[in-house]
Amino acid sequence: MDADSIYKSVVEKDEKYVMQTYGRKPLLFVKGEGTNLIDVYGKRYIDCVSGIAVNATGYSNQRLVKAIQTQAENLIHVSNYYYNIPQANLAEKIIQITGMSRVFFCNSGAEANDGALKLAKIHTKKDNFISTLHAFHGRTIGSLGTTANQKYRDPFVPMVKPATFVDYGNAGAIEKAIDKTIAAVILEPVQGEGGVHVPKNEYFKEVREICDKKGILMIIDEVQTGFGRTGKWFCKDHYGVQPDILTMSKAIAGGIPMGAFAAREGLSFGKGEHGTTFGGGPLASAAALAVIETIEEEKLLDNAAKMGDYFMKKLAGMKRKDVVAIRGKGLIIGVEFNHECAYLMDEALKMGVLVNVISGNVLRLIPPLNITKEDIDRVVEVIDSIQKPVQ
Ligand code: PMP
Repeated sequence: MDADSIYKSVVEKDEKYVMQTYGRKPLLFVKGEGTNLIDVYGKRYIDCVSGIAVNATGYSNQRLVKAIQTQAENLIHVSNYYYNIPQANLAEKIIQITGMSRVFFCNSGAEANDGALKLAKIHTKKDNFISTLHAFHGRTIGSLGTTANQKYRDPFVPMVKPATFVDYGNAGAIEKAIDKTIAAVILEPVQGEGGVHVPKNEYFKEVREICDKKGILMIIDEVQTGFGRTGKWFCKDHYGVQPDILTMSKAIAGGIPMGAFAAREGLSFGKGEHGTTFGGGPLASAAALAVIETIEEEKLLDNAAKMGDYFMKKLAGMKRKDVVAIRGKGLIIGVEFNHECAYLMDEALKMGVLVNVISGNVLRLIPPLNITKEDIDRVVEVIDSIQKPVQ
């Protein structure tokens, strides 16, 4: 079949058989290489969406490919009734890089947050949570209660009890919202889906102190920011704060589904209190170990920090006059425009650059952590060159 026929048949099957929940772009990718995705026609794109941040190591990373291959030949999955080698090694590694005490493995970000909420509930014997406006913590029936956007929540209420939502970046607002029913506050260290909001440096320390003073738990959701995205293993490390529970997913296993949450000393589930079939399976765990090794050996934390600074400087130097703010940490960057900017996403892809738009007027840039200056120069050139369409 030629490329056109493959493209058409895929779109046809998708439209006929898949629940139409995603607003798909007219693109069909068949390969990834470094920071590039390649479509069915052979056209290359610099990926600044990066599978929504699952990609720390770049596409087709050989260490990752080999680790998956070798593990698949030996043992793809085994029940959590038994031990497995990659899970034990990964657990040790995660505890080292997070500074937490114990970890539970699951399969996605939402599931990690669900587990964290359950752990907070069973530990504190309290039912309610505080979250922040614009927060995104997932769409399972539990995590949805802490996701701010009512569009996602309303159709399912009263099944989900929504959290109390307070302003992001304001520790005093959290303190005010705490009453005797609150188990925990859940926070992203940089709000990703909500528009790339970076709080002031003291925020997390202040929240930590309030949680300790009031006896509630602090959950930090590093699903989007973890594994080097902000230039450190975890974004909390910029703020010098340890949460009670840290949740992670996305980049952890380089695209093989995995989630995890880690808790501090003295905070853990007991036998039978939580579980999941695939959590910490050998294949996903071997992939995660390879991702962590690659980040270490290719010094991707440093690269994310350096390239993040370079990216922000280049963006600040653009000629266009409609930018209101450029914010970010490492390689999670938001460019806010004074108008709706979805057209930028559509025009950029024609020019071989993938970006996405959140909250209507914020362009989000989350490339693989091995992005180069040349890639960044091209991405900024493309963004700067796209004219706002005349209405
Ligand atoms: N938390 C955060 C901060 C996220 O960005 C996301 C996904 N965008 C999630 C949780 C949910 O993760 P998943 O889609 O794997 O359930």
